[in-house]
Amino acid sequence: MEETKINYQKEQEKLLKKLVESNNKPTLLLHVCCGPCFTYPYEIIKDYFKITIIYNNSNIYPEEEYHRRLNELKGYLKAISADIEVIEFPYDNLTYNKDLEPFADQREGMDRCRLCFRKRLGQAIDYAEEHGFDFVGTVMSISRFKNSQDLNKIGFELSQDKKVQWLPADFKKNGGYEKSLDIVRKYGLYFQHYCGCKFSIRTTKVEL
Ligand code: SF4
Repeated sequence: MEETKINYQKEQEKLLKKLVESNNKPTLLLHVCCGPCFTYPYEIIKDYFKITIIYNNSNIYPEEEYHRRLNELKGYLKAISADIEVIEFPYDNLTYNKDLEPFADQREGMDRCRLCFRKRLGQAIDYAEEHGFDFVGTVMSISRFKNSQDLNKIGFELSQDKKVQWLPADFKKNGGYEKSLDIVRKYGLYFQHYCGCKFSIRTTKVEL
């Protein structure tokens, strides 16, 4: 039997409403994979949280691309005068790929990606707990190639016994993906044409 899908965008709306009612602006560790994916999600949540970014994306290949995406993110933060700390994890694509290799031939959206989410979100959740953040989340649900059911299920599962709460999200809803592209065009941001890992170079082609 097919599992019932949860509308995580609505779940987020409920949470944001509660935060407003309780007059509470908690801390949020936000996993960000690149500048374009940060743009619109930030517009949605910026008034509700004290945000810190975590950039732990050893999935990205090659290394120049990893730095290019990070620099683009920093450039965008500067362009919109957002004074947000970016925590950078060391880049280690070789070790990261050892786990993904068995799924090398899969197209995007399958077990390789679920494992990739688990690795990066797990790291972010551990860091958030160790450093006393109230919430942890990711911008990745903005992408039309990222399964929001998978992302949120993994986020909730990995944070369930932790002191940090998972931020439910489906940023692509309500035209979110298209709105992010509008911002990308407006600021002339570099928009990559593959998800990130070396396997996705041959399986994904994104046109702006
Ligand atoms: S396609 Fe993207 S999400 Fe999937 S494994 Fe590669 S980098 Fe990770």
